[in-house]
Amino acid sequence: MDHNAPVVNDKHRIRTAQLDLPPRLLLGPGPSNYSNRVRQALSTNEIGHLDPRFIDIMNETQELLRYVWQTDHAFTIPVSGTGSAAMEASLANLVEPGDVVLIGVNGYFGERLCDMASRYGADVRRLEKGWGEVFTTDEIGEAIEFHRPSILGLIHAETATGALQPMDRIGKLCREFNCLLLLDTVTSLGGVPVTLDRWHVDVAYSGGQKCISCPPGIAPLTLGPRALEKLNRRKTKVANWYLDMSLLSKYWGPERTYHHTAPVNMVFALREALRIIAEEGLEDRWERHSRNATALWEGLEEIGVSPYVSEEWRLPSLTTAIVPEGVDAKAVAAYLLEHFNIEIAGAFGPLAGKVWRIGLMGHNSRHENVVLLLAALKEAMDNA
Ligand code: PLP
Repeated sequence: MDHNAPVVNDKHRIRTAQLDLPPRLLLGPGPSNYSNRVRQALSTNEIGHLDPRFIDIMNETQELLRYVWQTDHAFTIPVSGTGSAAMEASLANLVEPGDVVLIGVNGYFGERLCDMASRYGADVRRLEKGWGEVFTTDEIGEAIEFHRPSILGLIHAETATGALQPMDRIGKLCREFNCLLLLDTVTSLGGVPVTLDRWHVDVAYSGGQKCISCPPGIAPLTLGPRALEKLNRRKTKVANWYLDMSLLSKYWGPERTYHHTAPVNMVFALREALRIIAEEGLEDRWERHSRNATALWEGLEEIGVSPYVSEEWRLPSLTTAIVPEGVDAKAVAAYLLEHFNIEIAGAFGPLAGKVWRIGLMGHNSRHENVVLLLAALKEAMDNA
């Protein structure tokens, strides 16, 4: 024994059990469950992040992301991190100190965009609406004309409220006023129609763990030509080294230069989740989400629970359901978890205690899940 070896302190050397988790059905606002194919992809043997085979996999993942987003944007990549990393990347790269950034705030995630933009020095202007409502194109047009922002940021699917923002003519208005359109598609991509090029969206991001049905930890980001031009014209460095897309583009582009070690197996998982979407086809996938959401909304009404958001702009992937008078929202959610292994979520902000949030996302948007949840929810409301 080496007498000079340091003495090891065993204080933190706890003995823990091997993981043995209950089989939860994740019907909350995310993460959602993913398929065995994605699970297998995650556990595929590792290769290096500059291996020629991995480079093929990167290219395939980018191309499939373009399909799912319906865009030809060359710069379309998965960011290493959760949806918030891609959200932050979009602002870190496009906002320069003093830029006027107009943000639609009709729920929590619009608030978060304001917070993030302000941290990069933006002059943030807020366009506000109640939680559960959406903006009309005219309201957006008037605000753009008044504030003359360089970026308009909108949440396509507000996970805090279950409202889906209609996108007609907004992108064209942005072009007229020389403003970039930034769209959060975290809870819409892969579940409801998202057609970036048709909508003239310049910047969009998403997360793996919602309708894409991949584990959390990888987050798609896309920058169109107008966004790249703004990035290339910057007078100041991107104030976040890890998320600087001018550096990362050298890894995801033809140079393949090291920036940070890509989460290789997470890219495998995302690629598999995207392959599944491409096999199903977007039209069928959107139709499946719409059909199962409609069945959920009808079934909820039958057990005395009304959806919160007006049907016109109700989001198929995430439903906010009004907790009936006298029912304890938390106790019902706890009952579902304990007796059925089903996760649904409560809400926060002005909707706290008033609604449950029920997700039917990607792999989980299935008829059998709707039937099971409705029966379980009824039992929980009667017994919790
Ligand atoms: N944007 C929206 C609309 C979201 O729903 C979420 C997460 O729920 C995010 C951004 C942030 O994603 P993440 O929690 O994966 O960091």
